[in-house]
Amino acid sequence: MNVVVCVKQIPDPAAPQALDPDTKTLVREGKLILDDSDAYGVEMGLQLAEQAGGGEVTLVSMAPGGETSGLRTALAMGAAKAILVSDDALKGSDALATAKVLAKAVERAQPDLVIAATESTDGYTGTTPVQMAELLGMPSVTFAKKVAVSDGTVRVERQTEAGYDDVECPLPAVVTVTAGVVEPRYPSFKGIMAAKSKPVDQLTVADLGIDAGQVGLGGAGQEVTQVADAEARAGGEIVVDEGDAHEQVVRFLEQLKLV
Ligand SMILES: Cc1cc2nc3c(=O)[nH]c(=O)nc-3n(C[C@H](O)[C@H](O)[C@H](O)COP(=O)(O)OP(=O)(O)OC[C@H]3O[C@@H](n4cnc5c(N)ncnc54)[C@H](O)[C@@H]3O)c2cc1C
Repeated sequence: MNVVVCVKQIPDPAAPQALDPDTKTLVREGKLILDDSDAYGVEMGLQLAEQAGGGEVTLVSMAPGGETSGLRTALAMGAAKAILVSDDALKGSDALATAKVLAKAVERAQPDLVIAATESTDGYTGTTPVQMAELLGMPSVTFAKKVAVSDGTVRVERQTEAGYDDVECPLPAVVTVTAGVVEPRYPSFKGIMAAKSKPVDQLTVADLGIDAGQVGLGGAGQEVTQVADAEARAGGEIVVDEGDAHEQVVRFLEQLKLV
């Protein structure tokens, strides 16, 4: 079974971040790392391909500057190859433009299954994979906490507020996974060395047959109009145990309607 995993390469969240003063979007320059959210999708893809007894995982990413650092991490985990779309024309692309680009790149790999994360950790509109599915004409199942494939069908336990729904649909399909769907493996030394020589097919917008006017800032239907600092967190409540701490904790949880 051939699986495509969409992986977003993001600025290292541990490093200082900057916003472009004109577009108010994140400055994405230099080294980009594999988004943690996508490590789960890579692991899920690898496990499904292994369980199917054949096939491989192809990564698809759209990122500036021909950046492959995050892709190499996922290749070191075991993915076979990657498609990277990198083009100056993409600067300022919104989620829909990203979905258009990813859909065209995914088509090239002709996968049985496409996996993405439910949302990224930097932009997190959580809309890109479902827009991509629509453009590909594939069904999509979101918020997967468990995924199994057999007989041309994908079966998903779909996380809900109350528990989970059992959902199934025919392949090919797009599935978005939640953190915890599987435990991502650490790349081994052998994997890291092998990743250096795995193929990364680098494409431009023109290679994908996309009109440059449909993407980038000019083609964006979304605009970041304002950016504000997040509210500072209020201090927590300290419960001092004088024999009734458990009752205080239960009262607190009841107020939040958690019990
Ligand atoms: C107005 C605007 C301007 C922007 N300008 C820029 C810019 O100048 N430069 C820039 O780099 N980005 C820019 N972005 C962000 C970029 O286009 C994002 O990739 C896109 O908006 C989707 O990101 P998200 O975090 O919302 O994805 P989500 O929908 O939260 O992502 C869910 C999952 O979809 C997949 N996915 C999402 N994006 C990608 C990707 N790029 N490659 C592979 N898989 C992916 C991953 O599996 C991800 O975990 C801009 C966004 C907006 C709204």
